[in-house]
Amino acid sequence: MGNGSSIDTSRAVHLDINGKIEKIIFSRHSSSRDIHELICQAAAVNKYSTITLKDVDGAHVTASPSMPINTPSTPYTVVVKNPSSRNGQLNVKDESEVFQNVLSQVAEQFNRAFKVEEMKSDITTRLSSLERRLEICGDEGLKVVEIEKCKRDISDIKDQIWNAQKKFIDFNRMSSLSDESKISLKRDVPAYPKYTLSQETVEYLKQPTFDIWHWEPNEMLSLLEHMYHELDLVTEFNINPITLKRWLLCVQENYRNNPFHNFRHCFCVTQMMYGMIHLCKLWEKVSREDLGILLTAAVCHDLDHPGYNNTYQINARTELAIRYNDISPLENHHCAVAFQILSNPECNIFFNVDKDTFKRIRSGMTMLILATDMARHAEIMENFKEKLNTNFDYQNKEHLDTLKMVLIKCCDISNEVRPMEVSEPWVDCLLEEYFNQSDREKMEGLPVAPFMDRDKVTKPTAQIGFIKFVLIPMFETVGKLFQQIEDTMVEQLRSALRRYEEMKSENEKQQKKG
Ligand code: 5GP
Ligand code: MN
Repeated sequence: MGNGSSIDTSRAVHLDINGKIEKIIFSRHSSSRDIHELICQAAAVNKYSTITLKDVDGAHVTASPSMPINTPSTPYTVVVKNPSSRNGQLNVKDESEVFQNVLSQVAEQFNRAFKVEEMKSDITTRLSSLERRLEICGDEGLKVVEIEKCKRDISDIKDQIWNAQKKFIDFNRMSSLSDESKISLKRDVPAYPKYTLSQETVEYLKQPTFDIWHWEPNEMLSLLEHMYHELDLVTEFNINPITLKRWLLCVQENYRNNPFHNFRHCFCVTQMMYGMIHLCKLWEKVSREDLGILLTAAVCHDLDHPGYNNTYQINARTELAIRYNDISPLENHHCAVAFQILSNPECNIFFNVDKDTFKRIRSGMTMLILATDMARHAEIMENFKEKLNTNFDYQNKEHLDTLKMVLIKCCDISNEVRPMEVSEPWVDCLLEEYFNQSDREKMEGLPVAPFMDRDKVTKPTAQIGFIKFVLIPMFETVGKLFQQIEDTMVEQLRSALRRYEEMKSENEKQQKKG
């Protein structure tokens, strides 16, 4: 083996304490404070005593890990300026020790707790000033008024740490409603290349079979932009084309990189809405304004999703849950971020519409985004079925509103309507996000839903119930208004269901063999 001395980091220094030679050994990695305490121990004085070291020529030596080593014949003389009593009586030095302990606890808590640089430097300054004051007090004996001052300061610092720690936790758990910088654009339109879409792509984009995995983020932006032009929404709302690009960029920046709830999911839901508008020739039944509301709500519907669902938000009592009183906290947040983006004139695609139109757009989008909370699924479906049973009337606002809500719900959960090669990777993405959540819930001692538990769920079991009891009944119901949906989408769902059932029995066979 190699030379042992090369890894030996210890050093030895000899001290003359009242004529007696003592040796101290310390590591090169010790702090100056450690060495000071070691010398105090050797000198049998309190660690807050003031110590000076002198070499044989009477020169002062700094007690530090890099101080020059010496020999028993050239020891450093230790001079203790104010030796502290070591016999248990509570005196000014003991008070000082108590403060030092509190101080170091506060400092440690502060270092562990947060990384808010501004706060950190402010508190560091205050802690050092407290330490300096304690040193001075150590020399002169603590005065009552100083003790009171120290107590107040320490309590102040603790308050600051608590507040900063709270902010730090909330920042991790949620979101950015209060984080203004996120809402403003980081890159502007010139950084967003112009794509020329082929006629083939433009036609393909209208189909539910469109391969949504094939496109880079910038290409998805261009495809979304194309939808606004193609549906004549740019004319309808008199949208400045540059504002449209900017708005889309800003929306993209405000989707997080979650496994499932990311910008590609936003693109999918919007493309499905665009596909359904074409499949059902919806412009024959509803106004351009409503088409704009449907498409824009789809684009915005999961903005700034943190990757943990409402149940987590509520059980973990996050700031979002508190802000929205446990009522659809995520959907309320998506919608609030959407309108925060639109509140910037440079990103406001509705900048040129009149007040009343904006009011209708705002209430329409809010209604649709809030309708995507699956906790409201049964309520919304019942409402829609009721309207269907009383002769559906496109001129009736209430009827039309429920249809629009059901349409955005269909698009939101429409992955299984796509061809199998396109839909299947989404299940992995969803399960990854579910498992992230359930792992965290286990760690935090919160309730875990069985459908999110990696020990209980598989791909086919996740999909069979969802297709059978949620997707097929919903698309069949909409199919009563639009036969095209029954013929294409419901058929695709039935075939997906068959496939997952086969996959499940295949898995069971394998398990029996294993
Ligand atoms: P979102 O969170 O996207 O607004 O609302 C849709 C919710 O429906 C998702 O969070 C997810 O829980 C559920 N969901 C959507 N698609 C699927 C799917 O393909 N399979 C299953 N099991 N759940 C889905
Ligand atoms: Mn969604």
